Amino acid sequence: MSQRRILVTAALPYANGPIHLGHLVEYIQTDIWVRFQKLCGHRCIYICADDTHGTAIMIRARQESRSEERLIAEMQDAHLRDFSAFDIEFDNYGSTNSRENRELCAEFWRSMRAGDLVLERDVSQLFDPEAGTFLADRFVKGICPKCNARNQYGDNCDKCGAAYRATDLIDPVSTLSGAKPELRSERHLFVQLEKLHGFLEQWTQCGKHLQPEVANYLKGHFLHEPLRDWDVSRPAPYFGFEIPDSPGNYWYVWFDAPIGYLASTKQWCDRHGEDFDDWWRSDDVEVHHFIGKDIIYFHTLFWPGMLKSAGFSLPTKVRIHGFLTVGGEKMAKTKGTFIMAETYARHLDPSFLRYYYASKLGPRLDDLDMNFDEFTAKINADLVGKVVNLASRCSRFVHTAGLSATYPDDGGLFARGAAAGAEIAAAYEEGDFSRAMRLTMELADRANPFVEAAEPWALARDPARARELQDVCTIALNLFRQLAVYLAPVLPRLAKQTGDLLGKPIERWDESQRPLTGTPVAAFKHMLQRVNEKDVAKMIDESKENVPASQSADAAQGPSPALLAEPLAAECSIDDFAKVDLRIARVISAEDVPDARKLLKITVSLGGNEQRTVFAGIKQAYRPDQLVGRLVVIAANLAPRKMKFGTSAGMILASGPGDENVFLLSVDEGAEPGQRVH
Ligand SMILES: [Zn+2]
Repeated sequence: MSQRRILVTAALPYANGPIHLGHLVEYIQTDIWVRFQKLCGHRCIYICADDTHGTAIMIRARQESRSEERLIAEMQDAHLRDFSAFDIEFDNYGSTNSRENRELCAEFWRSMRAGDLVLERDVSQLFDPEAGTFLADRFVKGICPKCNARNQYGDNCDKCGAAYRATDLIDPVSTLSGAKPELRSERHLFVQLEKLHGFLEQWTQCGKHLQPEVANYLKGHFLHEPLRDWDVSRPAPYFGFEIPDSPGNYWYVWFDAPIGYLASTKQWCDRHGEDFDDWWRSDDVEVHHFIGKDIIYFHTLFWPGMLKSAGFSLPTKVRIHGFLTVGGEKMAKTKGTFIMAETYARHLDPSFLRYYYASKLGPRLDDLDMNFDEFTAKINADLVGKVVNLASRCSRFVHTAGLSATYPDDGGLFARGAAAGAEIAAAYEEGDFSRAMRLTMELADRANPFVEAAEPWALARDPARARELQDVCTIALNLFRQLAVYLAPVLPRLAKQTGDLLGKPIERWDESQRPLTGTPVAAFKHMLQRVNEKDVAKMIDESKENVPASQSADAAQGPSPALLAEPLAAECSIDDFAKVDLRIARVISAEDVPDARKLLKITVSLGGNEQRTVFAGIKQAYRPDQLVGRLVVIAANLAPRKMKFGTSAGMILASGPGDENVFLLSVDEGAEPGQRVH
């Protein structure tokens, strides 16, 4: 096989939030593919960067009273920490806010101007006079012009699904300042993508670069009519690069983000004495972009158009994957399924996630569902039960003798495993990792019965059979090592541990083809431990409680919707505050009020004989049996209130807009009923 040169990218993560399990589907998948190519001896580089520009970063930096540069530097550190915890190894990790990127953006721009692709047009946009900035669609809220639903964003309506322009909203309000936006007209720069229509039609439909369903989607949705001009500029203030020949205007973040692939490659070339054009302007290099299905339009229409006009290599393949769901649903903070990479890594072995994702990833765009019961079963059965078990049961018997000098007769087991190598490699190459994992586990299923039948632990009791024992263990450990080679792109740590155990590092795919003999065997160190269900539960629990404010997309884009819905009350004195007597109380009974849609009747104890019965509007959020025994906070000196169903003597403290979204305040361990809250 001749050595290929392959440049691989994953989409650039945005610098306003940390990495979560949804992101990792892409970075792990790409890392596996890159490691496979490297293992096969190809020259393959994995290029990525932080995507740093745009309004969201500018606004967040402003809210946190620091510079954008400080913010994005901190995020980049956090991203790199998370990636490294999951063994995701980039050859270069750059930033779109780099000198290289600024220069390359200018180069792209010049060629687009020269190709007569750029035109200027006035655009009316909402402007926030208090914040002093134009408002992107997600920074405006108002009444839907179609169905009159309140509190809808400037691009589409949550209630009726209508798409519209922010300027069509009734009574628009800036989410940044609460001010009423003004309509202002500004000059914007556009790229006339339609001029590249013929080229894009040919490139997307030739069957080589895209999955068939993606090519069909583009044809049916965009290419059957003239392509719209693409607005690539934003007026100041904007965090990004100012357009050299259009002072006061900045390239829109989506213009400079993909150019970041080249800028990051440029940094790698400079560090390694490589020629940049030899990687981005060479027919000998394959370029593979891994992306999610949400950014298809940018990567399959704008991006090839930009590359074409600037004379760079076009992508060999754009490999598009689906989203992560958890338990068949979208990740949700309220359910603890919006799990940060960092939280996961605190409780569970990152190798498990790599294997689990690999076992579920195919070459198509299907969503990948994370099911934690399946996750636990799969890791324990496959990795621990079938793979690592081979090594842990046999290696100690040959710790002193080492592997046999010649490979014994194993009835064709190793040869059959070696023969499967080509098929497993083909599955990796296709991105059909689930097939690669299945084929590998089939080999493990053949290896284990061999060990069970040969019973090395029984042989070990008879010194006269030492030679036989050594042979049995040599076979088992070679079958194990063969599996470790096939799994090496997914489980690099296991490959490393296998190399340490058997005295020879795993460096090439074709090491699966020849058994290892005559090497010493090191003392066995544990490789992978079983998944403990308690750790999974802890991780989910922690994800429920600790959603930092910066995780919330709403927080990142302006003041929280909660504050907008209910603005802060007027200042009060400590004496005013002290008038309300807040107490810890324990729920001793809770029952449904059958005729009330929202109410539960709850009796709480303040310790001793002091009790209160209150009616609380939390029926849709809590079942009575979830409440009995727990501590709550109550306003204990509210005047009793007569209600239709009885008298309520106090109020249980909770937050949230109502119905199922009500959240009772919790009390830390150690608090006692009756204690006052100060
Ligand atoms: Zn609507």
